[in-house]
Amino acid sequence: MAGGLAALKFLGGGGGPAAERFPGVAATKMAPDAAVTLAPALDVPSGAAAGYNVLLITLDTTRADHVGCYGATGGQTPFIDSLAAGGTRFADAVTVVPMTLPAHASIFTGNYPPTHGVRDNGTYRLPPETKTLATELKSAGYSTAAFIGAFVLDRRYGLSRGFDVYDDHILAGPKAGPDRLNPQRRGDLVADSALRWLDEQRPAGQPFLAWVHFFDPHLSYDPPEPFKSRFAGQPYDGEIAFMDQQVGRVIDKVRALGLLEKTLVVIVGDHGEGLGDHGEGSHSLLIYAESMNVPLLFYAPGLVPAGNVVADRVVAVVDLMPTMLDLLGLPKTECDGVSLLQASNSDRAVYMETMAPQLNHGWSPLFGLRRYWDKYIEAPQPEYYDLQTDWREMNNRWGEDSRGTMLAERLAALKSTLDSGPGGAATLELDSAARRKLESLGYIGSSPGTTAEGPLPDPKHMIAQSDQQMQRVSALLASGRATEAIPQIRQLLSIMPGDASVWSLLAVAHAQAGQLDEAIESRLRLLDLQPGDAQNWVALATLQYAKGDVAGFEVSLAEAERLEPELGSIYMVRARRAKQEGRLEEALALCQEALRRDPTRYALDSLSVQAELYHLLGRPAEAEAAQQRARQLGAP
Ligand SMILES: [Zn+2]
Repeated sequence: MAGGLAALKFLGGGGGPAAERFPGVAATKMAPDAAVTLAPALDVPSGAAAGYNVLLITLDTTRADHVGCYGATGGQTPFIDSLAAGGTRFADAVTVVPMTLPAHASIFTGNYPPTHGVRDNGTYRLPPETKTLATELKSAGYSTAAFIGAFVLDRRYGLSRGFDVYDDHILAGPKAGPDRLNPQRRGDLVADSALRWLDEQRPAGQPFLAWVHFFDPHLSYDPPEPFKSRFAGQPYDGEIAFMDQQVGRVIDKVRALGLLEKTLVVIVGDHGEGLGDHGEGSHSLLIYAESMNVPLLFYAPGLVPAGNVVADRVVAVVDLMPTMLDLLGLPKTECDGVSLLQASNSDRAVYMETMAPQLNHGWSPLFGLRRYWDKYIEAPQPEYYDLQTDWREMNNRWGEDSRGTMLAERLAALKSTLDSGPGGAATLELDSAARRKLESLGYIGSSPGTTAEGPLPDPKHMIAQSDQQMQRVSALLASGRATEAIPQIRQLLSIMPGDASVWSLLAVAHAQAGQLDEAIESRLRLLDLQPGDAQNWVALATLQYAKGDVAGFEVSLAEAERLEPELGSIYMVRARRAKQEGRLEEALALCQEALRRDPTRYALDSLSVQAELYHLLGRPAEAEAAQQRARQLGAP
């Protein structure tokens, strides 16, 4: 986070003159504020790409105005810019949710989050019956492969369906980035894997769908050389530059294999990055332009018009699946997006949301409606922006312009339709049986203390203050000063009793201070707010075991296993207990189970404990082999 904040003064804000609509597009003649029919955005007949390969590249955390063809001037995206020059670029493309998993679910299903049901990272999964671009192309005879850059898109979350190959093999360890629970894989390694697979594809063979996901621009910003030096002081742009080079490698391979003239290339961002513009450093909690405007281009020489810029309408990531099926001449599926090969209406309004403020902080969720020329945000304090003069969404005109009220009514109507859809009421499958069992073991029941009185706080009013305070106490905890942090965290909770992230900090602080009862109490409060988070249940189990409560330990781990059977820490916690109690063979088997189920996050942990166990079992060769593998992942 510190790196992100330091970068703000170089990266945030700025841009062109106020009259400019979107970077890289001269102030266009505004469409009249009325409904007119627009000619198709892509002037290509349906089925024109029948039999084509599809190469879909998703650029994580890439805000449009940091890409050259969208007006960035740092020279960070020569490859993407050259593809835009040879293809069709959408100047006003938006995502529908500023989070990786829900946004990719929208890209692959053509649906808004309430329809596909994935409302947040980590705790939601795409329902198994869902049709996706991959399932549709697979049933049309395509060979399908995905190359994933971060754990957040791990196969357990459901996007892997329809893919013959789903390469999400990202190994935990220092090389996988600082976030141990969301390890990432650098773009060059993702590209290497894609290149190896492409080498096996033959010009006259089965057509393919290849999805390549680059995660590099996501926090933390730490580009490899030479980009680190070239973009010194602008590490976010350095990451984009590195990613751009990897995009170039993938395209060059397709070209070298002689496959490019029969390949449809689609490049899109999943969401942008706040960079401090409205007080948010990263993304997920606000839905302004910096998080929602993304790069989008289609490239297929001889098929997609070259050098074309579509700047007279808003298009959305939900349009990609219907557009690709239309281009390929495959049967369309019913979805919220529209095919860009068809005529559209200038009055189109794209739905947006983020549930993260509510799910993670107990603040109000945000919903939005985005038209070409304006935008409404439903929040405790509503917002309306006239994008003709204010594309950065800085001047809230709610109450001054009747179009805001009109959009508010339109959003309310759309929401009620979406909520009655298949994923509309999607909540986690909760089971209070585990809580009842804990209560029978003497743990106190759900506490009313985690519910705030009155209306939920507005994220835009909370974010700057919250960010600052969270960083301050996190820094205290990082330097082992838990007893200093605890009163500060309690102070935060007196203002924000429904904030799961603060309860989580309190639990960590009490555990660090050796106050087991208080740590358990904090975990229980956290589970009131996020009962579907398996990691919380494992953390509770660990505390229960430390207290000697084996029955409670078993209840909590069983609940974690019910919620997320792939979660490696469940088996590692059991392995440590077995080891401590002298059941070494059993501990070994549990370590191997953790590695088998959750290699991305628990390989290092599992192999290190396996090495100790082999040593204790008097099997030095196997101990050395396990230690060797652990060292390869970065163990000391
Ligand atoms: Zn993302």
